[in-house]
Amino acid sequence: PSAGPIGVAIRIRPFNGRERERQDLLCWSAKDETRARLVLPEDARAALQDKVQKLKTEGYTSPNFGEDSCFGADACTGDIYAAVGKRVVDGSLRGVNGTILAYGQTSSGKTHTMLGDRANPGVVRLAVQDVFKHIDENDERHFLLKMSMCEIYNEVVADLLQKDNKPLNVFTAPGGRDVVIKNITEENITSPAQVWELLDKGFQNRSVSGTEMNAVSSRSHTVIRIVVQSRKVGAKKTEKTRKSTLNMVDLAGCERTSQAGTHGKGQRFKEGTKI
Ligand code: ADP
Repeated sequence: PSAGPIGVAIRIRPFNGRERERQDLLCWSAKDETRARLVLPEDARAALQDKVQKLKTEGYTSPNFGEDSCFGADACTGDIYAAVGKRVVDGSLRGVNGTILAYGQTSSGKTHTMLGDRANPGVVRLAVQDVFKHIDENDERHFLLKMSMCEIYNEVVADLLQKDNKPLNVFTAPGGRDVVIKNITEENITSPAQVWELLDKGFQNRSVSGTEMNAVSSRSHTVIRIVVQSRKVGAKKTEKTRKSTLNMVDLAGCERTSQAGTHGKGQRFKEGTKI
């Protein structure tokens, strides 16, 4: 999981109030005694005997993920960032494009992990702090950072750093490598505090209408994009600038249409097929 170009970490969130009240059964734990893996605890095994037997006859085995890539309820976002996020951020400072995204059902903890709150900083804040720390400590290169923030909902891209958030056009640049969002606001950023302000502004622009807020936020993707450009101090004009993009994405919920009760032809179903 962590060695190749793609790293994956699994995070199991703690039960929420409702789940505790219902006395839900925890079916996965992050570790057995020797290595990080997903296991079915004994009590769950007993309660789910028939299901487990069925899975076994279907050839299913407990998935085994690499060390440091499976996190239980006791882990904090910093642990996950250190395991799979930091190296993407470090790469972006060396000119390598990278993306960090959270994938899971609604309420599985994607927003908590990516965006967090004041008490539990999310991956975005940890990444931004790291980027500025690196720039402060590195006096061999000049850095220029630009940030944009957009929401993709029903295949419409909206600029979250603009109040009117008019739909934006997206196209692939010649060469087929870069996706360009035409006329999206890009702010030069020079400090973490400025980024926090932009994030607040972006989230305010996101809440189109209060009542729709929940539905829209679980059915839209939020993309925070930081373009990192750097050049050696004292470099000649002809010398190439390094440029890379760091994308951080809070994806829409990935529930299947059957689970979300979204079969049929309604609005939810249409949204689901576009996610
Ligand atoms: P999603 O974005 O996947 O829909 P959220 O991030 O909104 O899910 O999480 C649902 C709820 O669970 C939120 O109230 C969030 O604060 C809480 N939560 C999620 N993950 C954790 C965690 N690791 N520790 C504590 N609370 C969490």
